[in-house]
Amino acid sequence: MSPSKVIDRLDSIPPGRGATLVIDLDAVAANYRRLVEAAPAAEVAAVVKADAYGLGAERVAPVLWRAGCRTFFVALANEGAALRPHLPDGAAIAVLNGPALGGGDALADHFLMPVLNDLDQIDAWRAVAAARAPPAILHVDTGMNRLGLSAAEVDRLVAEPKRLAGIAVAMVMSHLACADEPRHPMNRAQLAAFATARAALEPVVGMARASLANAPGIFLGADYHLDMVRPGVAIYGVNAHGGDPNPFRQVVHLYGRIQQIRHVDRDMTVGYGAAHRVRRGARLATVAVGYADGYPRSLSNRGRAFIGETPVPLVGRVSMDLITLDVSAAPAALPGSSVELIGAHLPVDEVAEAAGTIGYEILTALGRRYHRVYVGGGA
Ligand SMILES: *Cc1c(COP(=O)(O)O)cnc(C)c1O
Repeated sequence: MSPSKVIDRLDSIPPGRGATLVIDLDAVAANYRRLVEAAPAAEVAAVVKADAYGLGAERVAPVLWRAGCRTFFVALANEGAALRPHLPDGAAIAVLNGPALGGGDALADHFLMPVLNDLDQIDAWRAVAAARAPPAILHVDTGMNRLGLSAAEVDRLVAEPKRLAGIAVAMVMSHLACADEPRHPMNRAQLAAFATARAALEPVVGMARASLANAPGIFLGADYHLDMVRPGVAIYGVNAHGGDPNPFRQVVHLYGRIQQIRHVDRDMTVGYGAAHRVRRGARLATVAVGYADGYPRSLSNRGRAFIGETPVPLVGRVSMDLITLDVSAAPAALPGSSVELIGAHLPVDEVAEAAGTIGYEILTALGRRYHRVYVGGGA
């Protein structure tokens, strides 16, 4: 069922829920295939950290598996452990933050591949690796200064190869800082620094595979693809390509429902802080969604919604559980009508821009109170 069919049936949504989040799993699969086309010579892994960017890793990852994905990245060991039962045994699950200090047992127990980000993690992993552990990924820093071995640590590792004793290094990776700015000189600099680090490591890790690009990194060109690319956000419909139109399909559709219609009978203000003035004769709609649902407060007096094909402005402040729309231009809006807050007319990227943030944050903040409906996915 398509997302638009779902709204036609919103009346069948259980009462007592404020808003409905429709997640289009066919769009997830199509976006994955689009990335495979963009990086045809590389393995296309999927980053499903933070519960698949808020969309539900348990539902999203099996769809990606059926679309051909074999390697999945999460941030934390417990995310990996939670995901493991939802994927076939052949799926590789890698943990970006690596083993917790003092132990990698949780990773080994669930056969999760650690990303080793510094010498301490290498030492921690060596303690469990020999016995029963999956291979590891070595992360070298080339400019993020967040995780990954520094150039000095790479040199030290090469001088002390016993540190890797018993550890199977399947891949060497790094991460781009400015991939969403194709002309930024940092991209080339990081590509060169990564080549230097890989050459330095070759005596200790052999010809390990290599991975550098996140989703926007894929569109920097084939030089950046190497053996594996690690897209996340594009799978979920964000325009990681930077071009117009967005080659990725919208995955998330958020529909609120009008709880009350007010006819303004004198010039007045709306909401907290009296932050918006309305004229007599205006029609206001109150919709049950708010910042407690991850609907950004920064959309106060800036957001938009659609009633059918008609755009309507959000007026006044976003409050915890409610927003107010000026629906004077949409006479069809009635109590119970559904209102598009994110979707075909309002892509995640547009909502993020109006809110002064990025699509990643809009997705990962999507609230737990929403009634979630998954469509497609071919399961
Ligand atoms: C989150 C993350 C990715 C995915 O990034 P997108 O911009 O969502 O494609 C890839 N690699 C690493 C190391 C990450 O932390």
